Amino acid sequence: QSPLKPNGNRRKTVVILGSGWGAISTLKHLDTSLYNVVVVSPRNYFLFTPLLPSVPTGTIDLKSIIDPVRTIAKSTPGEVTYLEAEATDIDIAKKQLTIQHSSYSATSGVHHVTIGGDEAKPIVATIEYDYLVFAIGAQTATFGIPGIEKYAYYLKETDDAARIRRSLFETIEASQLLPKDSEERKRLLSVVVCGGGPTGVELAAEIKDYIDEDLSRFVPGIENEMSVTLVEALPNVLNAFNHKLIEYTESIFEKQQLDLRVNTMVKKVDDKNVYATVKKSGGDTENVTIPYGTLVWATGNGPRPLTKAVAAQIEEQKTARRGLLIGEHLLVDGTDSVFALGDCTFTKNPPTAQVAHQEGIYLASHLAKLSKIDDLKYEIGQNTDPEQLVRLQRRLDRTQASILPFKYTHQGALAYIGSERAVADLVWGDWSNVSTGGSLTFLFWRSAYVSMMLGVRTKILVVSDWIKVKVFGRDCSKE
Ligand code: FAD
Ligand code: NAD
Repeated sequence: QSPLKPNGNRRKTVVILGSGWGAISTLKHLDTSLYNVVVVSPRNYFLFTPLLPSVPTGTIDLKSIIDPVRTIAKSTPGEVTYLEAEATDIDIAKKQLTIQHSSYSATSGVHHVTIGGDEAKPIVATIEYDYLVFAIGAQTATFGIPGIEKYAYYLKETDDAARIRRSLFETIEASQLLPKDSEERKRLLSVVVCGGGPTGVELAAEIKDYIDEDLSRFVPGIENEMSVTLVEALPNVLNAFNHKLIEYTESIFEKQQLDLRVNTMVKKVDDKNVYATVKKSGGDTENVTIPYGTLVWATGNGPRPLTKAVAAQIEEQKTARRGLLIGEHLLVDGTDSVFALGDCTFTKNPPTAQVAHQEGIYLASHLAKLSKIDDLKYEIGQNTDPEQLVRLQRRLDRTQASILPFKYTHQGALAYIGSERAVADLVWGDWSNVSTGGSLTFLFWRSAYVSMMLGVRTKILVVSDWIKVKVFGRDCSKE
């Protein structure tokens, strides 16, 4: 793409950091011919996270929920450069980024290609930007609880799903060598999921379904030996949902014999046990030990180190503990050219795909308006004809006036709770709220997620995965 636009004005550079919901929504909706667009992310694909809890059990194949960044970039009007790297440092004053080659894959997690002979060096580069779109998401919060980082799996990225599956099978296969009445066999066959938010609930439900519907065919009797425990610190799971739906979810868990431990705060884990404190109804507390073979930690989000490093450079971000503070146009407080969206920010909106997606659409349109304003100012600077100048000034005023603040429209929340049932808190405009749960909601949940997917290819793949599971069941290979 030429460094100049057709009117002779300089084409500014927009660097988009990340390839998740916020970044890809911005890219997809941006007129990329207006800018020199560079996408920097260690993950060269977009991941449709709402269906990630279905991956460890094989209900959904990983490939069915990922879209390559380059394919998305190609579908935009201009040229886009993709760099497989992570930003390691940002100099806000100089509008400069330091990036390092970093590759993310489902099998190996993060991997860096190095260069040089005996003294291998990482591949590092610097890039300049006019506007930075900071959309690097969040990481799983561990709250510094001892043992989590070492022993627990998360459910955030593609390699997490692969690790959970491997652990499930390693523990199942290993348990078969032990006598039926062995305590160690019982421990190996215990899956413990910590965090009763939507991630923990959906994963625990998927694993329980898998054991009862499929693993029981391959390893007879395993459904009576294997347990799934969901541990939640608060009195209920799915706290953002309507109370009726929380009760409904808990009743389904009881029917499925999914072991739900509420009021149970995890304090420490080691290689075999989770140590927690249970709050009793009278106000007393009791210490409990929950043995596990597979442990998943899903207790919400914490900021990534780079987000903290950016906040530390800016006076206005001194109070930003949980994410960057942004204004009504998604501009990072204390900067004039860094926009942030999605889970790396802290706003009144929840950290969801729905929010990041809507912010991306807004930001794409905002950037188009900024480009138009820039062009009109350039043309005013080049023009001497008084009539033309009046016309250009009017267009500039109109464009500036068309810039409105970002407004989030909540459409509701959905969660899968097992046994082909889902719960939904739906919102239609300002006038109607519907809370519903059950098998019909499950069908709605499926159709809503398919409609949210980015491309026709992934929509077809996901639907065919569901059909495959219905016809053949899920398989029992470790990979
Ligand atoms: P992400 O989507 O996490 O993307 C961050 C991107 O930044 C990634 O591409 C990452 O590789 C990249 N990155 C990280 N560090 C760097 C760096 N240093 N430099 C460059 N790039 C970097 N929300 C819903 O609304 N509905 C749901 O049903 C739902 N289900 C979910 C299920 C699961 C299992 C999970 C984990 C989340 C779910 N969410 C759901 C929440 C939703 O996924 C997040 O809110 C959303 O992904 C946030 O988008 P984001 O762009 O901020 O971050
Ligand atoms: P969350 O923050 O929604 O829930 C985490 C849960 O872990 C909380 O209920 C918290 O009380 C509990 N917890 C924290 N510390 C604990 C401890 N020491 N011991 C036991 N429990 C503890 O996290 P999430 O489920 O990962 O979701 C993150 C975001 O992604 C949310 O905004 C959520 O809405 C969104 N999301 C949405 C969906 C969906 O809509 N279906 C699915 C997954 C995630």
